[in-house]
Amino acid sequence: MEKIYNIGIVGGGVSGVVIALELAEYGIESILFENQKSVVNGPPFCHLHAGGNLYPDISDVQCKVLMKQSIDMARLFPNSIDERPTFISIPKSEKYEVDKIKNRLDMLVEHYKGLIDEDPANEILGSPNEYYKSFTKENLIELAKQPTFKQPNSLNEWMSNAIKLIDYEKLKTPVFLVQEYGWNLFRLGAQAQLALTKTKKCNLKINTKVKSIKDVRNQNLDYNWEICTAEKVYKVNYLVNSCGFKTGDMDESLHLNTERLIEFKAAYIAKCPSLSGLIPELVFHGERGTPNGIAQLTPYCEDYYQIHGMTTDITLFKDGLVQSKVNEIQPEFNEAISQKLSHGWHKDEIKIRTENAIAFVTKFVPKFESATVGGPPLFGAQQIHGDDPKLRVGEVSFPSTSYARSEIIKASSALAVSNKIIKKIQEEEIIPLIHNKTNRNFLLERISKKEIDKLAGELAIQRGYPKALSKLVIERE
Ligand SMILES: Cc1cc2nc3c(=O)[nH]c(=O)nc-3n(C[C@H](O)[C@H](O)[C@H](O)COP(=O)(O)OP(=O)(O)OC[C@H]3O[C@@H](n4cnc5c(N)ncnc54)[C@H](O)[C@@H]3O)c2cc1C
Repeated sequence: MEKIYNIGIVGGGVSGVVIALELAEYGIESILFENQKSVVNGPPFCHLHAGGNLYPDISDVQCKVLMKQSIDMARLFPNSIDERPTFISIPKSEKYEVDKIKNRLDMLVEHYKGLIDEDPANEILGSPNEYYKSFTKENLIELAKQPTFKQPNSLNEWMSNAIKLIDYEKLKTPVFLVQEYGWNLFRLGAQAQLALTKTKKCNLKINTKVKSIKDVRNQNLDYNWEICTAEKVYKVNYLVNSCGFKTGDMDESLHLNTERLIEFKAAYIAKCPSLSGLIPELVFHGERGTPNGIAQLTPYCEDYYQIHGMTTDITLFKDGLVQSKVNEIQPEFNEAISQKLSHGWHKDEIKIRTENAIAFVTKFVPKFESATVGGPPLFGAQQIHGDDPKLRVGEVSFPSTSYARSEIIKASSALAVSNKIIKKIQEEEIIPLIHNKTNRNFLLERISKKEIDKLAGELAIQRGYPKALSKLVIERE
């Protein structure tokens, strides 16, 4: 007889793989379908967002949730976390106030202390007293005189390296260094893929597109859904839709309508050998979508940098944000964006947009002028449920029995969403109650750093990026 799977997961992005890995950890079988050659191959992520400090406009509640969720994910995938701090500043031309930034950071320190009180293993962002440090103009003048540190060991040393490169006369003071870490998607993808391949509890089907879903819940069968691919029909009891910005495709198949936004964005890869010494991530706040939108410079190994510029000439795109309509469950991008998603970028556009990004950062980091194109952009589309484009904390919904739809906006929400889905599957008695649930995943822990290094490098190359992007700036022991 044809096998019936307890759980069928469609979409092997960060959300789908975390659900499959958590189920496997508790001995529950699933089948996971991913259209691409490897898992975690959708839109990129490079910031952990442990505190939401890259978003001056979001609520304190969202910042706290992001901090908690980021810590949980960092504990699951420590080998993908780049422990370098983030420089946060406000240009004099911008409306944001440094006092507000400072108040929010103080609030986050208290929240972080609370998380450590709950579980000492949550202390992954260093000591709460050093979660952030503020620097006055006088501090900056002094630090700029110090030598460049090859391996900075304190927030002062990181700031010393950074401030020599930054035109700080353009910035309000104080400026801040915060323990907001980087996050390496190639390393997370490698660890997840290795763990999923090794466990017998997940049937991982890469290169497999789900064409449609058939609801057979009213047909008195031993299962609830038929998942149809080009070759075969798979029978499952519980359906998880983790298709990212394509969740609407599955809903269309099930005639379920819901409001959603989808957004296309890109970050650019530059090479700049003339910046000497390790630097933190550099953030220059500005109003998103205006010509002065936030500028972000993310350091990688071997003189590679990634740039975000929240203007429509760089990271954002005209018509890049699309809303669902009453008769269009899965929103569609225009032809130019759809082409990029399905066939990649034209060489000329890579050059134009990367050079725009370099010029944007050069306003604050003059030496970055000598940077050149370092590779294709990291790009993709993400979903935002509902109709508020400023929302940064994702959720999950349960539109009907035996069906969960993951709607994460930040990769850090993946474990929280997985926990909610697993709880629901137990409530519906599709799987037995899990006793002794821990915060660890032993399948992931069994994967060695050496294995991750190797596969992460291969994934970067396979996807057309320099191998250096698969390495951490701060090498882990
Ligand atoms: C430029 C950019 C920068 C970003 N930076 C960050 C960041 O720094 N930090 C952060 O936390 N988040 C960031 N994000 C958001 C983050 O990328 C997403 O939140 C996250 O990747 C969503 O994960 P997901 O698993 O829900 O969806 P996805 O990663 O989109 O995964 C969905 C998967 O489903 C597969 N799929 C779809 N349809 C089918 C089908 N019919 N059959 C089989 N498979 C299917 C797709 O191939 C895809 O692999 C960024 C997004 C963008 C666009």
